Amino acid sequence: MQMEQLVALCKRRGFLFQSSEIYGGLNGFWDYGPLGVELKRNIREAWWRDMVTSHNELVCPPEAPSPYEMVGLDAAIIMHPQVWKCSGHYDQFHDLMQSCKYCKKLFRADQVGDMLRESEWVLSLAEAIGFQLEDSRVLARADALHRWLKGKGKKFAPGLAAVQQLEQADGGAQSTSQLAEQSCSPWELLARLSSSDQGGNGLRLPCPNCGGSLTEPREFNLMFETYVGAVRDEQSKTFLRPETAQGIFVNFKNVLDSTRVKIPFGIAQIGKSFRNEITPRYFTFRSREFEQMEIEFFCHPSTSPAWYRYWRDRRYQWYVDLGLAGDRLRLRDHGPEELSHYSCGTADIEYAFPFLPPGQFGELEGVAHRGDFDLRSHMEGKLARQNGGFVLERTPTGEPKYRGSGKDLTYYDDQTQERYIPHVIEPSAGADRAALAFLCEAYAEDEVPDEKGQPTRRVVLRLHPRLAPIKVAVLPLVKKEGMPEVAQEIYGELKRHFSSFYDEKGAIGRRYRRQDEVGTPFCITIDGQTLVDGTVTIRDRDSLRQWRIKKDECAAELRGRLGF
Ligand code: ATP
Repeated sequence: MQMEQLVALCKRRGFLFQSSEIYGGLNGFWDYGPLGVELKRNIREAWWRDMVTSHNELVCPPEAPSPYEMVGLDAAIIMHPQVWKCSGHYDQFHDLMQSCKYCKKLFRADQVGDMLRESEWVLSLAEAIGFQLEDSRVLARADALHRWLKGKGKKFAPGLAAVQQLEQADGGAQSTSQLAEQSCSPWELLARLSSSDQGGNGLRLPCPNCGGSLTEPREFNLMFETYVGAVRDEQSKTFLRPETAQGIFVNFKNVLDSTRVKIPFGIAQIGKSFRNEITPRYFTFRSREFEQMEIEFFCHPSTSPAWYRYWRDRRYQWYVDLGLAGDRLRLRDHGPEELSHYSCGTADIEYAFPFLPPGQFGELEGVAHRGDFDLRSHMEGKLARQNGGFVLERTPTGEPKYRGSGKDLTYYDDQTQERYIPHVIEPSAGADRAALAFLCEAYAEDEVPDEKGQPTRRVVLRLHPRLAPIKVAVLPLVKKEGMPEVAQEIYGELKRHFSSFYDEKGAIGRRYRRQDEVGTPFCITIDGQTLVDGTVTIRDRDSLRQWRIKKDECAAELRGRLGF
């Protein structure tokens, strides 16, 4: 599947629109259309139901260390600024950014290499000179390089120093010949082409957009700032939350005091998060406003490694059960060098999105063992790593750098009479990335017979029925002979149970294909025979099988087949 086909389908059928499109759009923001909103709601509901409401705290699930409880929360998006100072986001939630001195575009430093792999000018250069970025060495012939610089180089990479040197008296011939005929790595060639002092800036990669040279990487905090109240000063400054998790930590005591939950238990939350991403890209994959589905699971430190493994495997299985399978989904444990400053163990659940280079995976969800870092930070103040553990971070005069709440966030176990700070396992998923992965996985094109039995191409979204925006479409075969009336009656009944759609316009084959394209698992057709014996045809999206059922039994049939 080409990504462009899915993007076009999403727009055409009302899954996703660019935000503020009539004003030219706003990069990194997306709107879910009538079908998209149903898909995302179904994902959220499947998650909430599977993780929270249908969880039975009286029974120990297979593989779990013990029975446990789950409750929900919906915290505010804007919180006290001290939350972000103690959590570490205020000082540490940054990416390294580089900007292009020529076209002024901004890039996340760790993405420049990947973006160069997809860059128009790099692909064109590689084709002209005959190399691939994976090659260990490249030897560019002077005449081929010169020809490329004067033609496609000038057009696609005006920022390259080597392109600008074409303006010199000798047409850049001297500098081109210095660059060419010397064996070097492909990356080195790109760097040298972009530098006015060939070889001078070592291996600083060039701008993926225009080939210009990039600035030194500098830190850029990803939190969106805002002000609370009428006065805009440092005191009133706060942030849009970059993750939902902190709302759970700061409510840990409230939940304990207001419910009868006992450790082990989890608090789940779904909500919007905001990150001022330097380079939003890949459709909704990296957005600036997105939705997270997070659980903070509180347990005794001695059992935390077992709970970590439980949640990692359980969350992976959730995606498998909803249709992501095969070699495109994987569970990847982080190596020690990749772990966040607080984490004792992290695994990512990743999907091989079709927009990524072959063999690369993108994160759908992170499952992290966070130890007692978060509760301790909100109790004591911002922590710093020292000798493999954490200590309070202090100013040069010995004061805590950021003061915690001073509240007691420990847990007292009245059976064992032990007081301790619980350890936390955090499965943190993105609803938008999940939606995108389910769409990518579901998209297929195949051939089906049309009304005359002739093969015709169709696009089909093989979404899991729980996720499908519409569960059933009700279609009178023709718009006469009393068929619409019967169909409308059935539709009215089904609508009380399932998200249903009524359509009487156009040829029946086209109507089927319109439903296939948006993933509707079943179509019910009312035809001449319905008027005689009260039966209707039901058609399965995937097998294309059709069979007859009594018209009064549609709801029961669908309930059985959909499994809910
Ligand atoms: P990445 O490395 O891709 O930036 P991350 O490790 O920073 O992601 P987390 O902080 O672990 O992400 O956030 C948890 C989940 O939230 C991610 O697995 C992802 O599904 C979602 N998420 C994070 N950032 C974005 C974003 N910019 N756009 C859409 N979803 C996001």
